Amino acid sequence: MDFKLTVLPGDGIGPEVMDEGLKVLNAVAKKYKHTFKYQYGLIGGCCIDKEGVALSPAALAMCKKSDAVLLAAVGDPRFDDPKLPVHPEDGLLALRKGLGLFANIRPVKVAPSLVNSTPIKAEIVKGTDFIFIRELTGGVYFAKPKKRWTTPAGIRKATDSMTYSENEIERIVRVGFELAKNRKKKLVSVDKANVLLSSRLWRQIVIEVAKDYPEVEVEHVLVDACAMKLILAPTYFDVIVTENLFGDILTDEASMLAGSMGMLPSASLAGIPAKGTKIFGLYEPIHGSAPTIAKQNIANPIATILSIAMMLRYSCGLETEAVEIESAVDKVLAAGYATIDIFKEGNTKLGTAEMGNQITKMIGG
Ligand code: NAD
Repeated sequence: MDFKLTVLPGDGIGPEVMDEGLKVLNAVAKKYKHTFKYQYGLIGGCCIDKEGVALSPAALAMCKKSDAVLLAAVGDPRFDDPKLPVHPEDGLLALRKGLGLFANIRPVKVAPSLVNSTPIKAEIVKGTDFIFIRELTGGVYFAKPKKRWTTPAGIRKATDSMTYSENEIERIVRVGFELAKNRKKKLVSVDKANVLLSSRLWRQIVIEVAKDYPEVEVEHVLVDACAMKLILAPTYFDVIVTENLFGDILTDEASMLAGSMGMLPSASLAGIPAKGTKIFGLYEPIHGSAPTIAKQNIANPIATILSIAMMLRYSCGLETEAVEIESAVDKVLAAGYATIDIFKEGNTKLGTAEMGNQITKMIGG
Protein backbone atom coordinates (compact mmCIF):
# COMPACT_ATOMS: atom_id res chain seq x y z
CA MET A 1 0.00 0.00 0.00
CA ASP A 2 1.06 3.61 -0.56
CA PHE A 3 0.96 6.26 2.16
CA LYS A 4 1.82 9.96 2.25
CA LEU A 5 3.29 11.17 5.54
CA THR A 6 4.22 14.59 6.81
CA VAL A 7 7.34 14.45 8.98
CA LEU A 8 8.00 17.21 11.54
CA PRO A 9 11.35 16.55 13.26
CA GLY A 10 11.26 19.79 15.30
CA ASP A 11 13.96 20.77 17.79
CA GLY A 12 16.60 19.34 20.15
CA ILE A 13 16.66 15.53 20.04
CA GLY A 14 13.70 15.59 17.62
CA PRO A 15 15.66 15.15 14.36
CA GLU A 16 17.84 12.37 15.87
CA VAL A 17 14.98 10.24 17.18
CA MET A 18 12.97 10.84 14.01
CA ASP A 19 15.85 9.51 11.88
CA GLU A 20 15.73 6.25 13.84
CA GLY A 21 11.95 6.04 13.61
CA LEU A 22 12.08 6.39 9.83
CA LYS A 23 14.91 3.86 9.63
CA VAL A 24 12.61 1.32 11.30
CA LEU A 25 9.64 2.34 9.17
CA ASN A 26 11.72 1.90 6.00
CA ALA A 27 12.62 -1.62 7.13
CA VAL A 28 8.93 -2.45 7.66
CA ALA A 29 8.04 -0.90 4.29
CA LYS A 30 10.65 -3.05 2.54
CA LYS A 31 9.62 -6.25 4.30
CA TYR A 32 5.88 -5.82 3.70
CA LYS A 33 6.17 -4.03 0.33
CA HIS A 34 4.57 -0.73 1.29
CA THR A 35 5.59 2.74 0.13
CA PHE A 36 5.77 5.66 2.54
CA LYS A 37 6.34 9.01 0.89
CA TYR A 38 7.78 11.57 3.32
CA GLN A 39 7.39 15.32 3.07
CA TYR A 40 9.16 17.38 5.69
CA GLY A 41 7.74 20.44 7.49
CA LEU A 42 8.80 23.00 10.07
CA ILE A 43 7.47 23.36 13.62
CA GLY A 44 8.94 24.76 16.84
CA GLY A 45 12.09 26.80 17.40
CA CYS A 46 13.56 25.90 13.99
CA CYS A 47 10.38 27.26 12.39
CA ILE A 48 10.51 30.51 14.38
CA ASP A 49 14.10 30.96 13.17
CA LYS A 50 13.14 30.54 9.51
CA GLU A 51 9.57 31.86 9.31
CA GLY A 52 8.93 33.83 12.52
CA VAL A 53 6.00 31.57 13.50
CA ALA A 54 5.89 28.33 15.53
CA LEU A 55 4.04 26.33 12.87
CA SER A 56 4.71 26.85 9.22
CA PRO A 57 1.43 27.38 7.33
CA ALA A 58 2.93 25.26 4.54
CA ALA A 59 3.53 22.42 7.03
CA LEU A 60 -0.06 22.59 8.29
CA ALA A 61 -1.35 22.49 4.71
CA MET A 62 0.89 19.48 4.01
CA CYS A 63 -0.39 17.68 7.13
CA LYS A 64 -3.97 18.13 5.93
CA LYS A 65 -3.12 16.36 2.68
CA SER A 66 -1.34 13.43 4.39
CA ASP A 67 -2.49 10.04 5.66
CA ALA A 68 -0.73 10.74 8.96
CA VAL A 69 1.74 13.10 10.61
CA LEU A 70 4.91 12.15 12.46
CA LEU A 71 6.21 14.66 14.98
CA ALA A 72 9.30 14.30 17.17
CA ALA A 73 9.51 17.21 19.63
CA VAL A 74 9.60 20.98 19.90
CA GLY A 75 11.25 23.31 22.41
CA ASP A 76 14.38 25.42 22.52
CA PRO A 77 15.76 27.25 25.60
CA ARG A 78 16.49 30.29 23.39
CA PHE A 79 12.76 30.93 23.43
CA ASP A 80 12.15 30.33 27.15
CA ASP A 81 11.57 34.02 27.98
CA PRO A 82 7.78 34.23 28.58
CA LYS A 83 7.81 37.83 27.28
CA LEU A 84 8.74 36.70 23.77
CA PRO A 85 5.80 37.02 21.37
CA VAL A 86 6.06 33.46 20.07
CA HIS A 87 7.22 30.16 21.63
CA PRO A 88 8.02 26.82 19.98
CA GLU A 89 5.25 25.08 21.95
CA ASP A 90 2.64 27.40 20.36
CA GLY A 91 3.10 25.27 17.27
CA LEU A 92 1.76 22.18 19.06
CA LEU A 93 -1.54 23.78 20.03
CA ALA A 94 -1.93 25.23 16.52
CA LEU A 95 -1.26 21.81 15.02
CA ARG A 96 -3.72 19.95 17.30
CA LYS A 97 -6.43 22.53 16.76
CA GLY A 98 -5.72 22.90 13.04
CA LEU A 99 -5.99 19.15 12.48
CA GLY A 100 -8.98 18.56 14.80
CA LEU A 101 -7.04 16.05 16.92
CA PHE A 102 -9.36 15.55 19.86
CA ALA A 103 -8.26 12.14 21.16
CA ASN A 104 -4.84 11.66 22.69
CA ILE A 105 -3.96 8.02 23.18
CA ARG A 106 -1.02 7.01 25.33
CA PRO A 107 -0.28 3.35 25.94
CA VAL A 108 1.67 2.74 29.14
CA LYS A 109 3.34 -0.62 28.97
CA VAL A 110 6.20 -1.64 31.18
CA ALA A 111 8.61 -3.96 29.38
CA PRO A 112 9.51 -6.91 31.65
CA SER A 113 13.20 -6.05 31.29
CA LEU A 114 12.57 -2.52 32.62
CA VAL A 115 10.64 -3.28 35.81
CA ASN A 116 13.72 -2.31 37.81
CA SER A 117 14.29 0.93 35.89
CA THR A 118 11.31 2.85 37.29
CA PRO A 119 11.09 4.82 40.53
CA ILE A 120 8.22 2.51 41.60
CA LYS A 121 8.80 -0.92 43.15
CA ALA A 122 9.23 -3.69 40.58
CA GLU A 123 6.47 -5.86 42.08
CA ILE A 124 4.01 -2.98 41.63
CA VAL A 125 4.84 -2.01 38.04
CA LYS A 126 5.33 -5.56 36.76
CA GLY A 127 2.63 -6.37 34.22
CA THR A 128 1.48 -2.75 33.77
CA ASP A 129 -0.20 -2.45 30.37
CA PHE A 130 -2.94 0.10 29.93
CA ILE A 131 -4.07 2.79 27.49
CA PHE A 132 -4.77 6.33 28.61
CA ILE A 133 -7.16 8.40 26.50
CA ARG A 134 -7.15 12.14 27.07
CA GLU A 135 -9.56 14.63 25.51
CA LEU A 136 -7.32 17.14 23.76
CA THR A 137 -9.20 20.09 22.33
CA GLY A 138 -11.77 21.08 24.95
CA GLY A 139 -12.12 21.84 28.64
CA VAL A 140 -10.28 24.36 30.73
CA TYR A 141 -7.40 24.91 28.28
CA PHE A 142 -9.66 26.26 25.56
CA ALA A 143 -13.13 27.20 26.86
CA LYS A 144 -14.18 30.84 27.27
CA PRO A 145 -14.35 32.98 29.36
CA LYS A 146 -10.65 32.85 29.95
CA LYS A 147 -9.33 36.15 31.20
CA ARG A 148 -7.34 38.10 33.72
CA TRP A 149 -8.38 41.47 35.15
CA THR A 150 -7.96 43.87 38.04
CA THR A 151 -10.95 44.87 40.16
CA PRO A 152 -11.67 48.55 40.93
CA ALA A 153 -10.21 47.81 44.40
CA GLY A 154 -6.93 46.80 42.72
CA ILE A 155 -7.24 43.03 43.31
CA ARG A 156 -5.83 40.94 40.45
CA LYS A 157 -8.11 38.13 39.34
CA ALA A 158 -8.03 35.44 36.64
CA THR A 159 -10.44 32.81 35.42
CA ASP A 160 -10.47 29.78 33.12
CA SER A 161 -13.62 27.85 32.27
CA MET A 162 -13.99 24.10 32.39
CA THR A 163 -16.73 23.79 29.80
CA TYR A 164 -17.67 20.68 27.85
CA SER A 165 -20.51 20.09 25.45
CA GLU A 166 -22.19 16.70 25.22
CA ASN A 167 -20.89 16.00 21.71
CA GLU A 168 -17.29 16.70 22.78
CA ILE A 169 -17.71 14.23 25.64
CA GLU A 170 -19.49 11.62 23.60
CA ARG A 171 -16.85 11.34 20.85
CA ILE A 172 -13.94 10.91 23.27
CA VAL A 173 -15.88 8.47 25.43
CA ARG A 174 -16.63 6.40 22.30
CA VAL A 175 -12.88 6.22 21.64
CA GLY A 176 -12.57 4.72 25.12
CA PHE A 177 -15.31 2.16 24.53
CA GLU A 178 -13.97 1.18 21.10
CA LEU A 179 -10.49 0.51 22.48
CA ALA A 180 -11.84 -1.23 25.61
CA LYS A 181 -14.05 -3.43 23.44
CA ASN A 182 -10.99 -4.89 21.72
CA ARG A 183 -8.96 -5.34 24.91
CA LYS A 184 -10.12 -6.55 28.34
CA LYS A 185 -13.57 -4.93 28.01
CA LYS A 186 -12.97 -2.79 31.09
CA LEU A 187 -13.18 1.00 30.89
CA VAL A 188 -12.36 3.41 33.70
CA SER A 189 -13.84 6.89 33.25
CA VAL A 190 -12.13 9.54 35.38
CA ASP A 191 -13.97 12.64 36.58
CA LYS A 192 -14.59 14.85 39.61
CA ALA A 193 -18.35 14.41 39.66
CA ASN A 194 -18.56 14.92 43.43
CA VAL A 195 -17.69 18.61 42.90
CA LEU A 196 -17.76 19.72 39.25
CA LEU A 197 -20.86 20.18 37.11
CA SER A 198 -18.85 19.54 33.94
CA SER A 199 -17.84 16.19 35.44
CA ARG A 200 -21.46 15.34 36.25
CA LEU A 201 -22.37 15.89 32.62
CA TRP A 202 -19.32 13.80 31.64
CA ARG A 203 -20.48 10.93 33.85
CA GLN A 204 -24.04 11.13 32.53
CA ILE A 205 -22.80 10.91 28.93
CA VAL A 206 -20.56 7.95 29.80
CA ILE A 207 -23.58 6.13 31.24
CA GLU A 208 -25.62 6.91 28.10
CA VAL A 209 -22.89 5.81 25.65
CA ALA A 210 -22.28 2.64 27.71
CA LYS A 211 -25.69 1.38 26.52
CA ASP A 212 -24.14 0.93 23.04
CA TYR A 213 -21.35 -1.22 24.50
CA PRO A 214 -23.04 -3.75 26.83
CA GLU A 215 -19.98 -6.00 26.63
CA VAL A 216 -17.77 -3.34 28.27
CA GLU A 217 -17.74 -2.95 32.05
CA VAL A 218 -17.50 0.72 33.09
CA GLU A 219 -16.18 2.12 36.33
CA HIS A 220 -16.30 5.79 37.34
CA VAL A 221 -13.24 6.82 39.34
CA LEU A 222 -12.65 10.26 40.86
CA VAL A 223 -9.51 11.96 39.58
CA ASP A 224 -7.88 12.14 43.02
CA ALA A 225 -8.49 8.43 43.63
CA CYS A 226 -7.16 7.64 40.15
CA ALA A 227 -3.93 9.55 40.85
CA MET A 228 -3.43 7.38 43.92
CA LYS A 229 -4.36 4.09 42.30
CA LEU A 230 -2.02 4.62 39.33
CA ILE A 231 0.94 4.43 41.70
CA LEU A 232 -0.55 1.91 44.12
CA ALA A 233 -1.89 -0.65 41.64
CA PRO A 234 -1.20 0.29 37.98
CA THR A 235 -2.04 -3.23 36.78
CA TYR A 236 -5.65 -2.57 37.86
CA PHE A 237 -6.19 -0.46 34.71
CA ASP A 238 -6.75 -1.49 31.11
CA VAL A 239 -8.34 1.53 29.34
CA ILE A 240 -8.79 4.93 31.03
CA VAL A 241 -10.65 7.88 29.51
CA THR A 242 -10.69 11.40 30.89
CA GLU A 243 -10.96 15.10 30.06
CA ASN A 244 -8.11 17.42 29.07
CA LEU A 245 -6.72 18.82 32.34
CA PHE A 246 -7.07 15.61 34.36
CA GLY A 247 -5.50 13.70 31.48
CA ASP A 248 -2.61 16.12 31.16
CA ILE A 249 -1.63 15.56 34.79
CA LEU A 250 -2.40 11.84 35.07
CA THR A 251 -0.60 10.89 31.85
CA ASP A 252 2.63 12.46 33.08
CA GLU A 253 2.23 10.58 36.36
CA ALA A 254 1.58 7.37 34.43
CA SER A 255 4.67 7.93 32.26
CA MET A 256 6.86 7.44 35.32
CA LEU A 257 5.69 3.83 35.53
CA ALA A 258 7.57 3.02 32.33
CA GLY A 259 10.96 4.15 33.57
CA SER A 260 11.81 6.86 31.07
CA MET A 261 10.13 9.53 28.99
CA GLY A 262 12.09 8.00 26.13
CA MET A 263 9.92 4.86 26.18
CA LEU A 264 6.39 6.17 25.70
CA PRO A 265 4.62 6.80 22.38
CA SER A 266 1.38 8.64 21.72
CA ALA A 267 -1.24 9.14 19.06
CA SER A 268 -3.59 12.08 18.62
CA LEU A 269 -6.54 11.12 16.49
CA ALA A 270 -9.15 13.08 14.58
CA GLY A 271 -11.75 10.31 14.74
CA ILE A 272 -12.97 7.23 16.56
CA PRO A 273 -10.70 4.21 15.93
CA ALA A 274 -13.26 1.49 15.33
CA LYS A 275 -11.89 -1.82 14.06
CA GLY A 276 -11.23 -1.82 10.32
CA THR A 277 -11.15 1.98 10.00
CA LYS A 278 -8.20 4.23 9.17
CA ILE A 279 -8.15 7.43 11.20
CA PHE A 280 -6.07 10.49 10.43
CA GLY A 281 -3.68 11.11 13.28
CA LEU A 282 -0.53 12.72 14.60
CA TYR A 283 2.03 10.42 16.20
CA GLU A 284 4.71 11.61 18.58
CA PRO A 285 6.77 10.51 21.56
CA ILE A 286 5.49 11.97 24.83
CA HIS A 287 8.84 13.55 25.65
CA GLY A 288 10.04 17.02 24.76
CA SER A 289 13.12 18.20 22.90
CA ALA A 290 15.49 17.36 25.81
CA PRO A 291 17.93 20.10 24.72
CA THR A 292 20.63 19.11 27.24
CA ILE A 293 21.15 15.74 25.57
CA ALA A 294 20.63 16.83 21.96
CA LYS A 295 23.23 16.04 19.25
CA GLN A 296 25.11 13.60 21.50
CA ASN A 297 23.66 10.35 20.11
CA ILE A 298 22.37 9.36 23.57
CA ALA A 299 18.59 10.03 23.34
CA ASN A 300 16.32 7.00 23.44
CA PRO A 301 14.50 6.68 20.07
CA ILE A 302 12.08 3.94 21.28
CA ALA A 303 9.17 6.31 22.06
CA THR A 304 9.33 7.62 18.48
CA ILE A 305 9.66 4.12 17.04
CA LEU A 306 6.64 2.93 19.04
CA SER A 307 4.70 6.01 17.90
CA ILE A 308 5.29 4.84 14.33
CA ALA A 309 3.86 1.44 15.29
CA MET A 310 0.74 3.28 16.52
CA MET A 311 0.54 5.10 13.19
CA LEU A 312 0.62 1.81 11.31
CA ARG A 313 -2.20 0.52 13.54
CA TYR A 314 -4.59 3.48 13.57
CA SER A 315 -3.88 5.47 10.38
CA CYS A 316 -2.65 2.78 7.98
CA GLY A 317 -4.72 -0.23 9.08
CA LEU A 318 -1.52 -2.30 9.27
CA GLU A 319 -1.86 -4.23 12.55
CA THR A 320 0.65 -6.98 11.67
CA GLU A 321 3.30 -4.40 10.81
CA ALA A 322 2.57 -2.47 14.05
CA VAL A 323 3.01 -5.63 16.12
CA GLU A 324 6.23 -6.41 14.21
CA ILE A 325 7.76 -3.14 15.45
CA GLU A 326 6.46 -3.58 19.00
CA SER A 327 7.83 -7.08 19.32
CA ALA A 328 11.17 -6.04 17.77
CA VAL A 329 11.46 -3.40 20.51
CA ASP A 330 10.57 -5.96 23.21
CA LYS A 331 13.15 -8.41 21.88
CA VAL A 332 15.93 -5.80 21.74
CA LEU A 333 15.19 -4.75 25.33
CA ALA A 334 14.97 -8.37 26.48
CA ALA A 335 18.39 -8.98 24.87
CA GLY A 336 19.75 -6.38 27.30
CA TYR A 337 20.33 -3.48 24.90
CA ALA A 338 19.68 -0.09 26.50
CA THR A 339 20.17 3.60 25.90
CA ILE A 340 21.59 5.55 28.81
CA ASP A 341 18.18 6.55 30.28
CA ILE A 342 17.16 2.90 30.86
CA PHE A 343 20.63 1.44 31.35
CA LYS A 344 21.31 -0.82 34.31
CA GLU A 345 24.20 -3.09 35.23
CA GLY A 346 24.62 -5.98 32.84
CA ASN A 347 23.07 -4.13 29.88
CA THR A 348 24.83 -3.31 26.62
CA LYS A 349 24.82 0.47 26.27
CA LEU A 350 23.73 1.79 22.86
CA GLY A 351 23.58 5.23 21.32
CA THR A 352 20.50 6.62 19.56
CA ALA A 353 21.52 5.42 16.09
CA GLU A 354 22.74 2.03 17.36
CA MET A 355 19.41 1.40 19.12
CA GLY A 356 17.63 2.22 15.86
CA ASN A 357 19.97 -0.19 14.05
CA GLN A 358 19.29 -3.05 16.51
CA ILE A 359 15.52 -2.67 16.18
CA THR A 360 15.82 -2.44 12.38
CA LYS A 361 17.98 -5.59 12.37
CA MET A 362 15.39 -7.42 14.48
CA ILE A 363 12.80 -6.62 11.79
CA GLY A 364 15.14 -7.98 9.18
CA GLY A 365 16.17 -4.66 7.63
P1 NAD B 1 11.73 16.66 28.14
O1 NAD B 1 10.75 15.60 27.89
O2 NAD B 1 12.40 17.24 26.96
O3 NAD B 1 12.86 16.09 29.13
C1 NAD B 1 12.54 15.62 30.44
C2 NAD B 1 13.68 14.71 30.93
O4 NAD B 1 13.62 13.47 30.22
C3 NAD B 1 15.06 15.28 30.66
O5 NAD B 1 15.92 14.84 31.70
C4 NAD B 1 15.47 14.64 29.35
O6 NAD B 1 16.87 14.55 29.18
C5 NAD B 1 14.82 13.26 29.47
N1 NAD B 1 14.41 12.74 28.16
C6 NAD B 1 13.39 13.17 27.39
N2 NAD B 1 13.32 12.47 26.27
C7 NAD B 1 14.31 11.56 26.32
C8 NAD B 1 14.74 10.55 25.44
N3 NAD B 1 14.13 10.30 24.26
N4 NAD B 1 15.80 9.81 25.80
C9 NAD B 1 16.41 10.01 26.97
N5 NAD B 1 16.05 10.94 27.86
C10 NAD B 1 15.01 11.71 27.53
O7 NAD B 1 11.00 17.80 28.98
P2 NAD B 1 11.55 19.21 29.50
O8 NAD B 1 13.02 19.12 29.83
O9 NAD B 1 10.60 19.66 30.52
O10 NAD B 1 11.39 20.17 28.25
C11 NAD B 1 12.39 20.45 27.26
C12 NAD B 1 11.74 21.23 26.13
O11 NAD B 1 10.79 20.39 25.47
C13 NAD B 1 10.98 22.45 26.60
O12 NAD B 1 11.18 23.49 25.67
C14 NAD B 1 9.52 22.00 26.60
O13 NAD B 1 8.62 23.04 26.43
C15 NAD B 1 9.52 21.06 25.42
N6 NAD B 1 8.46 20.02 25.46
C16 NAD B 1 7.93 19.67 24.25
C17 NAD B 1 7.00 18.64 24.18
C18 NAD B 1 6.52 18.22 22.84
O14 NAD B 1 7.16 18.52 21.83
N7 NAD B 1 5.39 17.53 22.74
C19 NAD B 1 6.61 17.95 25.33
C20 NAD B 1 7.20 18.31 26.55
C21 NAD B 1 8.14 19.35 26.60
